[in-house]
Amino acid sequence: MNQGGWTCPHDVEGVCDIIKKECDPGDKGCVLYGKAKFACEDSPSNEAFEKRMERKMREILEGDTL
Ligand code: SF4
Repeated sequence: MNQGGWTCPHDVEGVCDIIKKECDPGDKGCVLYGKAKFACEDSPSNEAFEKRMERKMREILEGDTL
């Protein structure tokens, strides 16, 4: 899938060479999983992204107290 200016190197004619099925940005196994928040609210990436941000924030705050 290529709907913007970015083309994923794992997209081979619409099929992801990692997850071995149709490209679905943000799906589990996708390089974007947990790294981006998608406008589509039911993207599995969104929850992973939130958890990652919370973890990073906790690390930053804990770093401040040392
Ligand atoms: S599912 Fe993700 S990793 Fe796979 S081709 Fe699509 S954007 Fe790339």
